Amino acid sequence: MSFIQRIAEGAKSVGSRARDLGEIAGDKARDLTRKSSDLIEVTKLKHELRKMEKEMENNLAGIGALYYQNQQDREDTGDELSRLIESTSQLEIEMKDLEEQIKDMQPRPAVCPDCGSELQENTKFCSNCGRKIEHQ
Ligand SMILES: [Zn+2]
Repeated sequence: MSFIQRIAEGAKSVGSRARDLGEIAGDKARDLTRKSSDLIEVTKLKHELRKMEKEMENNLAGIGALYYQNQQDREDTGDELSRLIESTSQLEIEMKDLEEQIKDMQPRPAVCPDCGSELQENTKFCSNCGRKIEHQ
């Protein structure tokens, strides 16, 4: 089996695996929104995200290999290609979803109530508009 064929073959199985993983991560993410924002949970979500990024890389390599085979007329890979592309865009949606969840769970920096600029920690005045900042 050639190098290209190996990547293409790998991609065929990766496509379905990535989708399963995406669905699992999506379920987990939905679960987590109901719980308190916890650093451990954010770490878990980030770990899922890394795994999905890896799958995405494999998918994209696979799409490249299948497309190449297609163009070379070595094999009709049209079905595999569309399946993999569909699975990859599904993965992309799940990853965006996860990224949103992670962003929501992370503590936001304090902002100036007047101008909305981000505030330095323990600053007494807004560096943008000069408003006095009260600390609780
Ligand atoms: Zn300000």
